[in-house]
Amino acid sequence: MSVRIGIDLGGHTLTAALVSDARAGAPPEIARMETRTTPEGRGVVDIMDAMADIAARLAEGADVSFIGVAIPGMLDSDRRHSRRLPNFPAEWNDLDVPGALGEALAARHMAAGINIENDANCYALGEGRAGEAIGAENFVVFTMGTGIGCGIVTGGRLLTGAHGMAGEGGHLVVGGSAPCGCGGMGHSETLAAADGTSARALSKGLPADFSELWAMRENPDAGEVIETTLDAMARAIASVCHMLDPEMVIIGGGMSRAAGIKEALRERAIPYLSRPFKETLDLRISRLGNVAALYGAAGISLINP
Ligand SMILES: [Zn+2]
Repeated sequence: MSVRIGIDLGGHTLTAALVSDARAGAPPEIARMETRTTPEGRGVVDIMDAMADIAARLAEGADVSFIGVAIPGMLDSDRRHSRRLPNFPAEWNDLDVPGALGEALAARHMAAGINIENDANCYALGEGRAGEAIGAENFVVFTMGTGIGCGIVTGGRLLTGAHGMAGEGGHLVVGGSAPCGCGGMGHSETLAAADGTSARALSKGLPADFSELWAMRENPDAGEVIETTLDAMARAIASVCHMLDPEMVIIGGGMSRAAGIKEALRERAIPYLSRPFKETLDLRISRLGNVAALYGAAGISLINP
């Protein structure tokens, strides 16, 4: 049986999984998985070596036809080069990732088709292949973590845009003029992501950790910090609904695990929505969590072929 490998390249961890193909009526499944610490310095040679090493180990005794890599940054529209990875050294700029990984694999006498995709897009593809959006052709996934990631599937295809940059839902303009790390201002990520939320919490002497903050949201100061987070996210959700009319909006990432956050976001998004969209809003929480991007990466070649 042919299997695929999905790799999720993170700034701190490198995770890979051997994923079976979907078969009639059954979603793909992770057969084996391995996580390592991302090599210090995040250099290209070290990371390619680590990825090839994990792939070779996972591939033992299996017929691996394809390797997909989830990349934490923007990619060229041809999905061959990483443009710029915010938390990685400059040698990743305009890097031929499949070429570099292919060489590292060849050194281990291994070959496979290799594709890359943005990590938040992989997360969305994963929810579509094996998670909350199975069977859906129009959906948006937001990941609420250190930053806000986003992936959009419309008409059954991943939306990539004219320059390969579509789906940057963390940079939806939600109001205000706070500068965003991306160079713009007033973006959802600045207010709704864990980093921005922590900074506001710390300035009030509250815990930086979101789950701790969430647990004390009855406290007026904590409630105010959280309200800003939820309001920015609700504006982002309402805006994508108006623009794309999705079947569902899925919230993933570490912050989505806070009990009751779906209901809290829904309550705040409704007033921003025009009447027909109030009725169609189907807000959900990611089913796959941390492994969503692995399922998506393994399936990159199956969508937008
Ligand atoms: Zn931004």
